[in-house]
Amino acid sequence: MIICRTINEYRKAHSNLNGSIGFVPTMGALHDGHVSLVKRSVKENKSTVVSIFLNPTQFDNSSDLENYPKTLEQDIQQLENNGTDIIILPDYDFVYPDDYKYLVSNKELSSILCGAYREGHFDGVLTVVMKLLNIAKADNAYFGEKDYQQYLLIKGMAEAFFLDTKIISCPIIRENSGLAMSSRNERLSKDARRKASELYRIISMDLSIEDKKSKLIETGFEVEYLTQFQNRLFAAVYLEKVRLIDNVKI
Ligand code: AMP
Repeated sequence: MIICRTINEYRKAHSNLNGSIGFVPTMGALHDGHVSLVKRSVKENKSTVVSIFLNPTQFDNSSDLENYPKTLEQDIQQLENNGTDIIILPDYDFVYPDDYKYLVSNKELSSILCGAYREGHFDGVLTVVMKLLNIAKADNAYFGEKDYQQYLLIKGMAEAFFLDTKIISCPIIRENSGLAMSSRNERLSKDARRKASELYRIISMDLSIEDKKSKLIETGFEVEYLTQFQNRLFAAVYLEKVRLIDNVKI
């Protein structure tokens, strides 16, 4: 496994690959959700490239960025154990030589659901993913349905800009309790983590959206939104100031 910290290192490593390349962008603090994307890429491609970059431009809240868990040594080990060929480990100047003066944005889907509450979030996401896709030069890129709105936006961006990389979605990986795996779960107390598993249970119930919302509030969640979009129900809630998102097919 090769670790690339500069664009030239990656270009060199990339030129030695042959056959199809799968790419998995992440922000680190890896868990089984991330690993499922890596495994899928390894299964479907000759080589797998993973990036670890905690992208500051997609954080609308500086304490969320500061408190984001960092487990780099473990992440590298986990990627090596699961068949990754190359890790792109860039710093801010690698990704943003323009210091975020050029942006990719969307005019519609980015302003609803999470976008209505996190100003500039999807500008940061789309811009960094566009840059990473251009760097990685992969055939296939894998994204989790845990961030379904993000997946839709990235897929739309790839089509709008004629990107060569195919955007592939992968199912949500959950803990045994039903809680969608997330790096932010690590910030919950033991008690809150138990409570957090009620989110998936409640949004999957056969009830009206209003009744589900009441149940979430009774359980102790602060509900940011619970909204149907297309054939999915999307939820964002807070527990102990930690923001959790989930979605289920209706
Ligand atoms: P992140 O490190 O949060 O930017 O996530 C990197 C990728 O992993 C994104 O495509 C996420 O949607 C995906 N991901 C995160 N959590 C899960 C999960 N529980 N199940 C499936 N994919 C996930």
